[in-house]
Amino acid sequence: MLKKIIVLIGAPGSGKGYYAQWLQKEYHLGYISSGDICRDFASRSSDLGKKIAQIVKRGDLINDDLITQLIITKINETNQNFVLDGFPRNLQQLNNWNKLIQDHNWKIIYLVLSCDLQICKNRIETRLICSQCNFVYNTRLQPPLNKNICNFDQTPLMSRADNEKIKHRFSVFEKETKPLITNLMQNAKIIKYELNTNLSAKINFVKLKKII
Ligand SMILES: [Zn+2]
Repeated sequence: MLKKIIVLIGAPGSGKGYYAQWLQKEYHLGYISSGDICRDFASRSSDLGKKIAQIVKRGDLINDDLITQLIITKINETNQNFVLDGFPRNLQQLNNWNKLIQDHNWKIIYLVLSCDLQICKNRIETRLICSQCNFVYNTRLQPPLNKNICNFDQTPLMSRADNEKIKHRFSVFEKETKPLITNLMQNAKIIKYELNTNLSAKINFVKLKKII
């Protein structure tokens, strides 16, 4: 069976996590984010797991080659189809990915989420995240039933509205992810769609159902 991989790419706050959750539920996909995958492998006793645990322990970053390797290993472990949230994030990761997946018979669909950057910033500033189940709330658009408490597991919610961190994430997007998006959009050989996430999710869900 042809394995399907859906790759979500976009600015912070463009809705990657939100659409990934929806796709995951709608199509029973496995979910991989570059943050989760490092934690996942660091807790394993395999050689690769030990290597990651050591790097994390030193406080170093997992380099692009290694991240790519982890993601491909994870995808190969089951027969599931997957949605990738936030990977590849730059051209280096895309090049590694393209090289390493050559022999895999995967159908890869790139979804580029385009959104007004000011809207993205506002979304992040009003966002609350559950550290337990990773569900994302929004203080204005989708507040939890009880203030600052997760609906599903009653965990206190965290905000990520740290100004310096937000600025940093957007500068990484400008420097690294924008060139990646330009590259993807110009590549005639790949399957790619642009999703305007300024629009309501309902409109985009209809579009996605036609694509996937
Ligand atoms: Zn929760």
